[in-house]
Order: sequence, then C-alpha cells, then structure tokens
Amino acid sequence: MKVLVIGGGTGGLALAHGLKRAGVGVTVFERDALRTDGLHGYRVGIDPDGSRALHALLPTELYDTFVATKARDPKYFNMLTEDLKEVLSLDLPPATDPVESEKSISRMTLRQVLLTGLEDVVEFGKEFTRFEQEGDRVTAYFADGTHATGDLLVAADGAHSRVRRQYLPQAKTEETGIIAIAGKLPIIEESAKLVPPKVFEGITMVNAPRGLACILHVMEFQWDRDGKVKSGIGGNTEELIRRWPGLQFDNTRDYINWGLSATADKFPANVMELRGHELIDAALRLTPGWHPNLRRLFELTDPGTCFPVNIWTSVPLEPWQTTNVTLLGDAIHTMTPGRGVGANTALRDAVNLCRALIEVRDGTKQLLTAVGDYEMRMIEYGFDAVNKSRAQMTADDPVHKPVIGRVALAGMRTAMRAVNHLPPVKRRMRDSMLAYRGADRGELTLDITPAQVNR
Ligand SMILES: Cc1cc2nc3c(=O)[nH]c(=O)nc-3n(C[C@H](O)[C@H](O)[C@H](O)COP(=O)(O)OP(=O)(O)OC[C@H]3O[C@@H](n4cnc5c(N)ncnc54)[C@H](O)[C@@H]3O)c2cc1C
Repeated sequence: MKVLVIGGGTGGLALAHGLKRAGVGVTVFERDALRTDGLHGYRVGIDPDGSRALHALLPTELYDTFVATKARDPKYFNMLTEDLKEVLSLDLPPATDPVESEKSISRMTLRQVLLTGLEDVVEFGKEFTRFEQEGDRVTAYFADGTHATGDLLVAADGAHSRVRRQYLPQAKTEETGIIAIAGKLPIIEESAKLVPPKVFEGITMVNAPRGLACILHVMEFQWDRDGKVKSGIGGNTEELIRRWPGLQFDNTRDYINWGLSATADKFPANVMELRGHELIDAALRLTPGWHPNLRRLFELTDPGTCFPVNIWTSVPLEPWQTTNVTLLGDAIHTMTPGRGVGANTALRDAVNLCRALIEVRDGTKQLLTAVGDYEMRMIEYGFDAVNKSRAQMTADDPVHKPVIGRVALAGMRTAMRAVNHLPPVKRRMRDSMLAYRGADRGELTLDITPAQVNR
C-alpha cells in the first residue's frame, strides 16, 4: 500500500509518523519550499486528546521531545475587563502526566518536532494542483510538472484544500464575520512588567464593549534567546532538547502573543491587506479606552510578526461515497478557534486514519471499508466540533450588537464575577472546560506493531 499525503501540517505529518512506524509506504507532499518556511501562527493548545494522538503516532523519544519543547504550563485561565480588572480567574491543574495534560505549544516548534525523522518521507516545494483516479490507483499532480501515484490520497492541505475543492465541490466554507489581528513581542523587562502576575502565568481573555476580545498568551521555553538550554533545566528535558536537531530550524524564543478579534465592520475595510505597523495602528485605533499597559503591548509588538486572520468555518455536509481519496483536519472540517480544538481534531483524525490503514496492512479490512469506517466517525465528531466552535465565535453573538451588546457584556461579567467568588462553582466550570478537551479519553490509543518485512 502506498499513501500520498497532500500537506505537511499538523495532521499530515502526524499521520506520516504513524504510517512510517507501521511500515506503510507514505510520502508527504508539502507546498512550502523549505522546512523553515511559512508563518504558522504562534501558539496552539494541545489538549489531552491531541497529546494521546501524538503519543500513539510518534516514536517514543520524539513524543518526549514534544513534551520537553512545550512552553511553561499556564497556571490560570483569566477573564479581564479592558482596564485589566479581574472578572474570573480559574486555577488550572498542574500537568503531572506527560500525556493526560494540556500543553502550550509554539506552532513552529510543533512543526519542527513533527518534521523530525521524516526527512525521507516529506517532499517540499510540491504544490498539489489536481488528482486523477483510475481503477484502484490515484495520481496527484503538482505545480512543478511532476506527479505521484498511489493507492490512497489523503487531503491534509488545510482550510483552503485544493483536494477538497476537486473531490467534494459540494463542501462549503463560509466567513463567520469575525476578523482577528495577531502579533507577538519578545519578553523583555518592559513587556513583562506590563501584565499582572496572573496574566504572565496564565491564558487570558480580555472582553470589552463592542464585542472586542483579546487573547493573551505568555510563552516561555526551556531555551534562551541564543537557542541554548536555560540554566537549571537539567535532567532528561535538557538532554532531549540538546539532542534534538529540530531546534536549529526553530526561531521560537520567549514571547507574549496577542490576538484581537471583533466583527469585520469594526476593522478598516482593507484589513486583510494591512501588514506590520498598519495592523498595530488598527489595533490601537480599535482600543482607545483600554488600559495603557495593553496598548503599550500593541505598540511594542514586532511589526514583522503581525498578521490578520479572517475566521472561516466549514458547513457540515452529508456523507459521501468513499473512494481512494480521503480527507483529514482543516481540509474537511475547518473550524473557528473558538474552542481551540482544530489541531486536536486533526490529530484525532490522523490516529483514527492510521488505525484504519493498519487494519488494511494486516488484511483484516479492505481499503475502502477501512476508509469508509474512518470517514463515518470523523464526519460525526469533526462537524460536532465545527458546530461547537462556531457557537463560541460568531458575529451573531449578542455581544456584537450595538445596544444589546452592552447589556450582554454586563450580564456576562456579573455572572462570571459571581462564579469567581464561589469556589465549588468555579471548580465545576474549570472541570467541564477541561473535560471537553479530553472527553474522548482512551479512544486515541494505537498499537503499532512493527511491520513485517515485505508485508
Ligand atoms: C488564530 C488561530 C488559533 C488556533 N488555535 C488553536 C488551538 O489553540 N488549538 C487547536 O487545536 N487548534 C487551533 N487552531 C486550529 C489549527 O491551527 C488547525 O486546525 C490545524 O493547524 C489544522 O491542521 P491541518 O493539518 O489540517 O492543516 P494545517 O496545519 O493548516 O496544514 C496544511 C498544510 O498543507 C499545506 N498545503 C496547503 N495547500 C497545499 C497544496 N496545494 N499542496 C501542498 N501542500 C499544501 C500547507 O502549507 C500546510 O503545511 C487555531 C487556528 C487559528 C486560525
């Protein structure tokens, strides 16, 4: 069996690791020309589901490297007003288990971790253009004039998937009406002092009038600005980072990252064309009454790190006839970042598809039956996550409406402040938030038996 994976992002690379370990022939075709290319955003929260999937798919030492390269664990989930007053602050449990825990991960670091050990599997500079199916074989064509033929083509080419557009033209994606601007700044003495201690040690959401929201992440890693392991780390973590070749390709250093979102009408009409200082200016113009420290964070942002994001979502679709083309991750179920589970769902797809293909390898299922079973479940949990993520981030939310929005914000703040003073209710709220992110406990394990020669 030969599997062609289009797209070397989170889901495609994780799948490739699992297939390689299982002895299934796999090649990943990535559009980016170089390993270091692409602005992949800054932070991704990998939850216990995502961790279990990675644990199942990656070689043991690489999984340990993934854990060693995470950012310091956040201790709090905070909700603040735009003048930095606490509305709610939930204590997050310390991560005691390397698998069953939330992790704050740099996107570039995750990409470099996932590329480690796949040097013989990933081909860069391969922009997929179209595929052709003939009999039980499928051929992918690339912009450089080359092509590749295999038994199964997996679309892992993200939200604007070319494979999906050809294969499932009925699948629709649509704008949510929400736009975000993101940027990051290095942690230096001045920037570190701008945020309260709980913000420095937590994940923070600032909710403000007119439906404006700003998420703040403070990311500190085990290596310093020169890429050397910080002193006092020691033990296995130090050894893993020292041995990991991926750090040479990873420019991630300690940073504060912010994402400011609102309905599109609040931004300049050409926001998606703005870059650098123009985006910082747009953020400052949107937030005139905000606490000076938050505005200073915007001002101190490295202009080269700013980018606008138009938040899209896919529209759930009916199951389709299974063939030797399938999809995973954002290519089929793009979702808003509202629940922070897009990457985790892509990883869940990867482990489920890998399991299905191991059944084919072992002769216990035919290829199309295995792929069909994978798709049936993926459609169910994937679009469930799409719907829940959309409900969290939509222009239809009352907070975005002119008059009722103020009432909705005031009501939300009153309710959250009340919760903040009721420890048992706070704990329940935290537990239900964490339960959603690890709700599928146990399902994402994979027993990858070593492939037998010539199998
Ligand atoms: C602002 C923001 C914050 C987010 N935060 C979180 C979070 O905290 N937790 C979480 O779980 N998720 C989060 N997500 C979602 C997450 O980033 C995605 O769901 C996840 O990256 C999807 O993985 P994927 O493998 O499907 O696609 P991607 O990781 O996007 O990979 C697609 C790959 O395909 C390549 N490609 C594209 N077109 C072609 C082509 N024609 N030929 C060849 N290659 C191609 C691309 O270069 C890329 O490498 C967030 C998303 C956004 C926008």
